[in-house]
Amino acid sequence: MDLLNTLVDKGLRRELPSRDEALAVLATSDEDLLDVVAAAGKVRRHWFGRRVKLNYLVNLKSGLCPEDCSYCSQRLGADTGILKYTWLKPDEASKAAAAGLAGGAKRVCLVASGRGPTDRDVDRVSATIKTIKEENEGVEVCACLGLLSDGQAERLRGAGADAYNHNLNTSEATYGDITKTHTYADRVDTVQKAHAAGLSACSGLISGMGETDQDLVDVVFALRELDADSVPVNFLIPFEGTPLAKEWNLTPQRCLRILAMVRFVCPDIEVRIAGGRELHLRTLQPLALHLANSIFLGDYLTSEGQAGKADLEMIADAGFEVETTEQVTLPEHRRGGGCGSVCGSQAPDEASAEAAEPATEPAAEPAVKAEVPGPRTDLVAVRRRGAGTDVAPNA
Ligand code: SF4
Repeated sequence: MDLLNTLVDKGLRRELPSRDEALAVLATSDEDLLDVVAAAGKVRRHWFGRRVKLNYLVNLKSGLCPEDCSYCSQRLGADTGILKYTWLKPDEASKAAAAGLAGGAKRVCLVASGRGPTDRDVDRVSATIKTIKEENEGVEVCACLGLLSDGQAERLRGAGADAYNHNLNTSEATYGDITKTHTYADRVDTVQKAHAAGLSACSGLISGMGETDQDLVDVVFALRELDADSVPVNFLIPFEGTPLAKEWNLTPQRCLRILAMVRFVCPDIEVRIAGGRELHLRTLQPLALHLANSIFLGDYLTSEGQAGKADLEMIADAGFEVETTEQVTLPEHRRGGGCGSVCGSQAPDEASAEAAEPATEPAAEPAVKAEVPGPRTDLVAVRRRGAGTDVAPNA
């Protein structure tokens, strides 16, 4: 059985691929790309149908961070020209959230820059969560406040938070190259704290930081091991003024292979396309919907995304539908804390009926090679609307 047939079968059984299989997905040729997308798309449709979950970011506190994450526009001393402001009040945050929900989002992600929250910060965010929940029935709220101290996850859960986001970002082996002010182990600890408190764990990665394929596979396997319910896949936005400003090394095809690999390793987990979607996938964004079942609507924390209306049109044009608050994102076996084990108990008929075509032989060199576009700095726009401004948000 060839690679893609094997990966589809494993994905439908929730069986972990081998590391070599995951690496082989990243090494596929452009000739095989549509076969890879079709195969991973079968796994995506099996567990999530054609639903796309929309998430909406509200940046509660922007910039002014003492940490040194080299990919981040909010890092210590970064000269990136981003909006800088301190904590939004609960009613301001709720107003921003309402715009995203009106645009079709079902989850609001409340994010604050910083190493981690003080207990007073947890009080503030708890008040914000309560306000948003009171004003918007059925909304899911995820908090993303950095490293958590003991007891803070429980307090957020008590205030009504459904989920907590803290990304691993990259492999343990290379973590020290991108950040010096905290460790990979610190990040793992916070994801585990959130999980233990009954919060749905959201943890993902950033690709395009100069990492190897091994690093990507390492971090995705680590996320699966941590039993994250949702895995945001970021494509580095190389902000001028950050140490990674020159790291323009992603192509749309590479982004699709990364998303496919994540889908095969995390078949029944929410795979979310996060920052950098417009920048790196560009015109191939609709193909990525066959791999991920979740995206952010509208703008990101410090940069602008494509218009919310364009997101909705893209979803409809590609034949997908926006997930409603009545629809539950995760498959039944993952609800209520999730299932961290590799069950391997299901082998639906679809597995054999929809088996992928074999991957073809390595592609011959094309007669005329398509030109790889250079850095698309023209597509990086610092956010100047929404939270922290007087300008209407993009949703
Ligand atoms: S990623 Fe978070 S902790 Fe790191 S510099 Fe940015 S805001 Fe600070």
